[in-house]
Amino acid sequence: MKRFFGQKGALGHSRRVLDELWELEPYEMVPEDRDFPIVLFSAKGARVRDLNGNFYVDLSSFFGVSSVGHSNPKCLRALRKQAHRLMNGMGDMHKSHVALRFIKTLKKHLRDKDYKVFFGLSGSDAVEAALKFACAATGRASFVAFEGAYHGLTLGALQVCGQERFRKQFAPLLNKHVQFLPFPAKGLGLKEKVLERVRDLLGQNPPAAVIIEPIQGRGGIRVCEDGFLRALFEECKKNGVILICDEVWTGAGRTGRFLASDYEDVAPDIVCLGKGLSGGVPLSCCLMRDWIADAVKSCDGEAVHTSTFYAFPLGCASAIAVLEEIEERGLLQRAKEIEKRVLEVLVPFISRMPFVVEVRGKGAMLGIEVKDHGGKTGGQIAYSIMKDLLKEGVIVTTEGEKGNVLAINPPLTIDFCDLDFGLRKIQTVMEKLTNEQFRD
Ligand code: PMP
Repeated sequence: MKRFFGQKGALGHSRRVLDELWELEPYEMVPEDRDFPIVLFSAKGARVRDLNGNFYVDLSSFFGVSSVGHSNPKCLRALRKQAHRLMNGMGDMHKSHVALRFIKTLKKHLRDKDYKVFFGLSGSDAVEAALKFACAATGRASFVAFEGAYHGLTLGALQVCGQERFRKQFAPLLNKHVQFLPFPAKGLGLKEKVLERVRDLLGQNPPAAVIIEPIQGRGGIRVCEDGFLRALFEECKKNGVILICDEVWTGAGRTGRFLASDYEDVAPDIVCLGKGLSGGVPLSCCLMRDWIADAVKSCDGEAVHTSTFYAFPLGCASAIAVLEEIEERGLLQRAKEIEKRVLEVLVPFISRMPFVVEVRGKGAMLGIEVKDHGGKTGGQIAYSIMKDLLKEGVIVTTEGEKGNVLAINPPLTIDFCDLDFGLRKIQTVMEKLTNEQFRD
């Protein structure tokens, strides 16, 4: 590994940018800790450069987006071609061919192809569509969601967000008819109990839909217990309730299958995709069964749920390139190899770290849970590890309601030299922390 990874010298230039942004953006949009954020300059593959010329290995894919690597050459070629031809379109009015090409390519990756496709730009857009269409199709406005869930922060998506910190300031605006159930994460032994609650709820007063992430991402890389999704799907079917799988993070190959719900042989009524779908250009989509898709009717010829950038041609072009990359480069298999490598290296190691609970996840969506230790909360420890990793030249994020899970979500295309470098740095930083702060 080249010696120049990591932070060398002063971060003056970045600090000045951050200070100026501090004045220009809402307060909470610029982190207060001036030692922590870097200012991004460029990124290629799994490598990132900051404004001060420091290099980093990216184990985050920038929130799970850059699954095919930053500035993927195939995406760049597709983008250049599309940008010269037709940069933006006319949404639901005048269609573009690239949208059709995207849908056809996407369907090749879907085990169950019997879906109509609704387009958005963000994950939240896809979730908004899912909730609105579910409401129109069932005539009901109540939902069942899960504690710890994260589906985006627009008003519709926020109402099914199972994390109080995101909801509390906006509570008066939110739908009160949402029931939250405990998320039956692997290892908690909650599956039967939660299923019982599901049976009661769906049987007595069926909601429009149940919405779930097969693996909670922002909830702390919590993998749903085996068999739960399948059983939930059956219960929904029995009671005429729509099952929405939010695969914004888990989808498009991140977990080693194209959809994480494929692991359970479940074809949900609605699937939300975003993030890694389109190689860093905004595009999301909401896949839904015909009877759901056709429930929303235009009003005097006017589409009633649409947007200016609907079926965004640049996003579609880049997404086609991503889907081809997944196929041609065997990236589903690659996600599994990443999981194997990370677990091989980290499992024996972290068992010696007094503040680590476990490493978990699926494919290239992995997390290290940290617990309270030595007078510090798990969140404080995870934050300091994330910060030290940045100094050592590695980008990770923290997830979980308490911020106590270090997430490892590298691009699926990451070179194993870079992955190993990142894993070594995780060990170095954790070992240092153990020796310096938590020595008995
Ligand atoms: N659903 C899930 C599962 C997510 O992880 C996210 C984003 N982290 C969203 C929805 C919202 O996506 P966006 O931030 O693009 O609106």
